[in-house]
Amino acid sequence: MKAPSFAYVKARTLEEAFELLEKHGESARILAGGQSLIPSLNMRLSSPELLIDITGLKDLSGISAGNGFLRIGALVTHAQIERSEEIKKHAPLLAEAVKHIAHPAIRNRGTLGGSLALADPAAEYPACAIALDSTFILSGRNGERKIKATQFFKGLFETDLRKGEVLIAAEFPIAQKSDRSVFLELARRHGDYAIVGLAAFKSSETRLAFLNVGPAPVLAKGAASKKSLEEAKEALSKELNPSADLYNSAATKKHLAGVLLERAWNRLST
Ligand SMILES: Cc1cc2nc3c(=O)[nH]c(=O)nc-3n(C[C@H](O)[C@H](O)[C@H](O)COP(=O)(O)OP(=O)(O)OC[C@H]3O[C@@H](n4cnc5c(N)ncnc54)[C@H](O)[C@@H]3O)c2cc1C
Repeated sequence: MKAPSFAYVKARTLEEAFELLEKHGESARILAGGQSLIPSLNMRLSSPELLIDITGLKDLSGISAGNGFLRIGALVTHAQIERSEEIKKHAPLLAEAVKHIAHPAIRNRGTLGGSLALADPAAEYPACAIALDSTFILSGRNGERKIKATQFFKGLFETDLRKGEVLIAAEFPIAQKSDRSVFLELARRHGDYAIVGLAAFKSSETRLAFLNVGPAPVLAKGAASKKSLEEAKEALSKELNPSADLYNSAATKKHLAGVLLERAWNRLST
């Protein structure tokens, strides 16, 4: 199928993007890498009248470290994340997770900001952002605001992005030498969306963020607080309540989450 017809503007400045978003309201959509938006248009799942291409906006690009944080611009692609030495060093969880996202052609165009703004429950970055307790920078005509990843993801494809706002960047705390992180997922084939995944981070506390076991990533606080694997598995089975999908029952997903917990637990303890 082909996309319905739409108008297209390549924004030259953020201000121009804000103006267009204000003027066209619900009938306009931001276009970043297009790897989720364009398929959804082709499948006629949405039909915006105007696409505002933000890929030329320099303020949304770049990776930089400073003040204890690694700042990654919203337009940084999956491929750039995969190749970045700074990300390997300062946010190894992201470097491990990105390898599970789709295939090279999609990784070349898809962006961090697009993935976070879309909030697909099976996506890797939202769970990583929650495990790392990261912060997002959002901007609109009324200025900039920061929000914790834990507050940003509201539900199925639903976020705290307000009308007219653009996601500018995400800030990840720089990993310390003693920190440990593990990203694991189970998929039918490598590059497919995850059946279940886990982003785990251990520093002064342990944070376990599961993906695709709910409408948004699930931070398993009960399991993370336990001293033994057995206790953690028991707590996890109480705090996860996944829904079945076309291929997997809720019980299968819960079982697989326990399998990933065990693998991550063993790696985090070494
Ligand atoms: C075959 C296939 C397999 C895939 N597999 C995976 C996978 O395994 N894991 C995974 O995580 N993803 C997967 N994806 C999705 C891919 O990672 C997308 O690139 C990503 O989800 C969206 O990023 P994008 O830059 O392409 O955003 P777009 O498609 O351009 O936009 C997505 C949505 O976000 C909004 N948006 C984009 N950028 C911003 C911004 N800066 N501020 C506010 N709103 C914004 C858009 O308006 C749109 O609603 C797959 C895609 C395909 C086609």
